[in-house]
Amino acid sequence: MAKFKKIGILTSGGDAPGMNAAIRAVTRHALSQGIEVVGVIGGYAGLLGAATETDKDVIAEKYLRPLKSGSVSKTITLGGTMLYSSRCPEFKTKEGMDLALKTCHEQNIDAIVAIGGDGTFRGATDLTNHGIPSIGIPATIDNDITATDHTIGFDTALNTCLSMFDYLRDTSESHARCIVTEVMGNGCGYLALYAGIAAGAVTIAIPEIPYDYEYGLNKIRDARAKGKRGMIAVCCEKMAKEGEENVAEHLTKLISSETGVDSRFNRLGHIVRGGIPTLRDRLVASQMGVGAVSLLLEGKSNLVMCLRDNRVTHTDINFALVLDRMYKNKLKDGDLEPFTAAQVEEMKLRCTRRAENIRELYEISKSICY
Ligand code: ADP
Repeated sequence: MAKFKKIGILTSGGDAPGMNAAIRAVTRHALSQGIEVVGVIGGYAGLLGAATETDKDVIAEKYLRPLKSGSVSKTITLGGTMLYSSRCPEFKTKEGMDLALKTCHEQNIDAIVAIGGDGTFRGATDLTNHGIPSIGIPATIDNDITATDHTIGFDTALNTCLSMFDYLRDTSESHARCIVTEVMGNGCGYLALYAGIAAGAVTIAIPEIPYDYEYGLNKIRDARAKGKRGMIAVCCEKMAKEGEENVAEHLTKLISSETGVDSRFNRLGHIVRGGIPTLRDRLVASQMGVGAVSLLLEGKSNLVMCLRDNRVTHTDINFALVLDRMYKNKLKDGDLEPFTAAQVEEMKLRCTRRAENIRELYEISKSICY
């Protein structure tokens, strides 16, 4: 029995392939349950904008697009987000929240499904605390949300990285070079590590493991001594500390100067944020979208959808946010206070498992990549 008449969906923060599949799943499942759906344009900014407009046609065109089944037709194959995304710092202020609430009340939006990363979830929990039940769906190519094994967009980005690395290997082979390629990750090495292993990178640098330059340079020297012509090295972005040189560029120079192997720097950048979503991202997005609506209908909120041990499930948003800060060594005073000892233990266990998983993969990369 539908508890809600109308829900809003938004995509916020960095975009990721598969967001459209999630929008589609939320829309179609909600409609099938007799719930109206509006797509909030441009993330939280759309909620704020609608509060300042009185013309209902303008609102529907610019801020709150009514979504019917046909509105999401054929979007499952598209990268990007049909609802667009933006950063909206104003939403974090009291004035911004007042505007968002005004929109929800005036437009009869009973609940929100927010698709994005941890910033997006902080917005969702704020809305819940102000009386608008909200559920988060994790979508970011970085796979940097500790509560879930998989974020929507990660698999597509991995496959795009892999194709690009394969292309770089072709040219590195022709010219007997080592191409050092930097990939996104926002401080999380999964993208670099998975795709680097799969592409046969000679060395991989990720933020989770201190990079041993001498070890990496020796690998390259050894590989060349064994007759290897073309090589790629993979680096995660944002690894350098304040004031230090970018790690990928520094490594490129060292390879040329210290190993005698001609080296080039390459940055994939935003290219891996686009593209046709893979089967896995579409499937997980579909499962999470349906799951989010079902949970709202059960009267639940302030949750984030997760994939754990290959099952779609959910966890409390505050648990997910604090778990994330624990994993990233960014816990704030009092963060753990709302949680029971058993929950804190659970968080520690999840952090340990994730760190172990990365370490094990890194060891694999070291033993086979040359
Ligand atoms: P992501 O969701 O990819 O982590 P951001 O961190 O940029 O991206 O967050 C996306 C948006 O979520 C922000 O522009 C803002 O509107 C909202 N948001 C982020 N942090 C908070 C917060 N602490 N409280 C409320 N809303 C937030």
